[in-house]
Amino acid sequence: MTSFALHGIGVSTGIAIGRAQLVSHATLEVAHYQIPPGGADAEILRLEVAINEVRRELEELYGEMTGGDAPAEFGALLDVHTMILDDPTLTEAPKRIIAEQHCNAEWALTQQMSVLVDQFEQIEDAYLRERKADVVQIVERILKRLLGKPGAIAPAGAEQHTILVAHDLSPADVIQFKTHRYAGFLTDVGGVTSHTAIVARSLAVPAVVATHNARQLIRENELLILDGTNHVVIVNPDKSVLSEYRLKQGELELGRAKLRRLVSKPATTIDGIPVELHANIELPDDLHQALDNGATGVGLFRSEFLYLNRQGQPSEDEQFEAYRKVAAGMEGREVTIRTFDLGADKQIEGMDGLARVAPNPALGLRAVRFCLAEPRLFLTQLRAILRASHYGKVRILVPMLASVSEIDQTLALIAQAKETLREQGVPFDSGVAVGGMIEIPAAVLAISAFLAKLDFVSIGTNDLIQYTLAVDRADDAVSHLYDPLHPAVLKLLTMAIGSANRARVPIAVCGEMAGEVTLTRLLLGFGLRNLSMHPAHLLSIKQRVLTTDVAASKPLIERIRRADDPAKVVALLERLNA
Ligand code: PEP
Ligand code: MG
Repeated sequence: MTSFALHGIGVSTGIAIGRAQLVSHATLEVAHYQIPPGGADAEILRLEVAINEVRRELEELYGEMTGGDAPAEFGALLDVHTMILDDPTLTEAPKRIIAEQHCNAEWALTQQMSVLVDQFEQIEDAYLRERKADVVQIVERILKRLLGKPGAIAPAGAEQHTILVAHDLSPADVIQFKTHRYAGFLTDVGGVTSHTAIVARSLAVPAVVATHNARQLIRENELLILDGTNHVVIVNPDKSVLSEYRLKQGELELGRAKLRRLVSKPATTIDGIPVELHANIELPDDLHQALDNGATGVGLFRSEFLYLNRQGQPSEDEQFEAYRKVAAGMEGREVTIRTFDLGADKQIEGMDGLARVAPNPALGLRAVRFCLAEPRLFLTQLRAILRASHYGKVRILVPMLASVSEIDQTLALIAQAKETLREQGVPFDSGVAVGGMIEIPAAVLAISAFLAKLDFVSIGTNDLIQYTLAVDRADDAVSHLYDPLHPAVLKLLTMAIGSANRARVPIAVCGEMAGEVTLTRLLLGFGLRNLSMHPAHLLSIKQRVLTTDVAASKPLIERIRRADDPAKVVALLERLNA
């Protein structure tokens, strides 16, 4: 077996060594051959056996999901898959094709799948139209059985040494991996701060995206070394390379073990400045990882993940339970719940507002814009958050504010939600803080009006960079232009932090820049005292805080502030980190 390397963008650091599991696109791989005369019955039986195996597989998964602490939406997804599997148009029609055309079962199945997918594509209703993806997934499961391979999601426990290889993974796909400990994953496409990458980082598994053709070049079960730190994947490594990487992997683990000693140490700089290190979470259960890594609060709960991988909307009670769990679990520490940031790369299906593909989703009906367009949905969430505020120190964070009128409208809806709860006698924290995300350049340029109305602000650097540089954060074709150190980005950051500090309005950064150890000193130097990041990064950032002297870094910070040349910024930053 020839060894070769593939280069991409490492979006989650560390080294994974494991066997490739291909997340397949069924139609690309299916052979077409004629079965021998008189062989149709045996071929039909082969298909039936595979279908029954998939049915059992789904039942087992269902048992695992409902018995464990998996999100409720898995159950709904499995229900849909079971319904599709039971539908004769998918499972009976291929048998006729086998009998009539004397072709192999795989071919018959994918022929019928194409017919169904075509039919789905004609459907007006966007939700139903998108169900074609579920049909394809079910067909892939059956095909894997036919080809003697296990299902796409390995049973719990078997995946520790498995690296997933896919053309693309959506944030909804990746969030499912929270219940499965894959060693790593790699994709052909994707950008550094796409939500797919963000969730990968939150899983703390190494990941490389934008490899362009990994999915085509790598075969099932091939041995892979995935080096997320150096943006490379080595396929079929020889023995010496393998042992070198095992050594490196061991060293990294040792480093991680050392960092664990810092868990309960306060994050204070050499010159005595206390720094808050908060956690970004996607699902309620992430709070354990946050606490294990010494988070002093939750700075960003991306509540919209409650919406993914499910049918319909999460009810007020279901949301309340999720928020209450985090609020109570953090035991009095701040819990910042971001209101739904749906749209762009976190599309949901079947809702009026999103039942069309927007010409430019990142600039479209996203986040607070979407919520204000769907006040019933927004009010449901606001009531659920307010109810949870009785159980801990909850704060509400509104994403993607561009103009002050959006704050006014949101505050009016919060007042309305409070009124309803008061009438119902439901307890809540009447002084719950309301903050806004600063992630559109307009919000920085006009920040004083925002600061006057908000209790706190949090800079979403992922979007702020995307919108400042006009670089789609999820598009690897332009990822080389996505630059957190661009002088324009740094100017916006210093403006926002300086203005908020002067106005004495608490400010944090909750974008990926907060978890990037090479930027910690820079952000502290700009006057930031609160950083929110994936729990997996908390300890290495704390270590950097502990070794930073903010006062002594002032002259270098001043030079970085004034630098207009990106190369100079990089050189000065290196000195700052030396
Ligand atoms: C951001 O934009 O930086 C942010 C934290 O929000 P998200 O990544 O979820 O868009
Ligand atoms: Mg954002």
